[in-house]
Amino acid sequence: MCAKKIAVLTSGGDAPGMNAAVRAVVRTAISFGMEVYGVKRGYNGLLNGDVERMYLRSVSNIIQHGGTALFTARSPEFNTPEGVERAAAHCREMGIDGVVVIGGDGSFRGARDLTNAGIPCIGVPGTIDNDISSSEYTIGYDTAMNTAMDMIDRIRDTTESHDRCSVVEVMGRRCGDIALNTGIATGAIAVLVPEVQFDFEKDLLDRIRYAQKTGKRHFIVVVAEGVGHTQEICDRIQKETGIESRVTILGHVQRGGSPTLRDRVVASQMGYHAVELLRDGKSNRVVVMKGERIVDYDITEALEMPRIFDERLYQIAHDLSR
Ligand code: ADP
Repeated sequence: MCAKKIAVLTSGGDAPGMNAAVRAVVRTAISFGMEVYGVKRGYNGLLNGDVERMYLRSVSNIIQHGGTALFTARSPEFNTPEGVERAAAHCREMGIDGVVVIGGDGSFRGARDLTNAGIPCIGVPGTIDNDISSSEYTIGYDTAMNTAMDMIDRIRDTTESHDRCSVVEVMGRRCGDIALNTGIATGAIAVLVPEVQFDFEKDLLDRIRYAQKTGKRHFIVVVAEGVGHTQEICDRIQKETGIESRVTILGHVQRGGSPTLRDRVVASQMGYHAVELLRDGKSNRVVVMKGERIVDYDITEALEMPRIFDERLYQIAHDLSR
């Protein structure tokens, strides 16, 4: 059945570009003659009835802002069979016959459950970590990487002035993509990611010592959050090389800020595609990027896809950092 009255929500971790996706969903729905509603604070809004009608002007002036104008939340209550049932019952009471969920894998599991409870859902990948295996790109990833790159460039200025080593932790619990890309872009001597086991002596200390012999006097090491032990890594570098070393944990600064052009455009394309799917009577689909094209997969299948780490890019990082 083609959806006529749809809702949009943002759920889980926020990401710059989510607003562009919300805007695209609202304006596409209106273009297609649908009624559209904004749900506040993720699945909590469906449980509490915190839902409001959206119009063309409701999404004015948000495309350039980070965060999410609909707010976001983690909803333990929704993550129960009773919670999903209650949210579905609220949707039925309001006449909502389609929901676009912008979030990560956890939010997509919720979307799958809500679809099974009778409310057609479409997922749109929004997370800075790029950790959704079915999609080559997630909304917020480009902005987060550019923020991290800019911060590391700044750290490098002071690191160079003092002939130090800076060990910089970037976000990415299960996924080292931010670390790998920013490591290449900032000329890091080493990049540590959760996908690759590293040998401290060979992959870190030997590289620093060799570079020292060739005249290098300051060093950047980029560590993905998921590797852990960033302070210990830093202490050991200082102890074993004698180079004064400092840790910087970039943290939540990477989540904020105005989205890049790429995040705004991809979010707009994905939001548009999501509403097309609901218009065409599709459900339980996730919108993804594959080879620079926007396509969609079944959510259940998408959740089971294995994540592919870019080994070649890792090799390039390794060979260029000397
Ligand atoms: P993300 O979407 O960024 O991965 P979370 O994993 O925190 O973030 O999930 C966001 C919300 O999605 C959770 O608070 C919960 O309400 C819902 N959710 C997560 N996992 C499930 C699940 N297995 N079944 C149903 N709902 C889920």
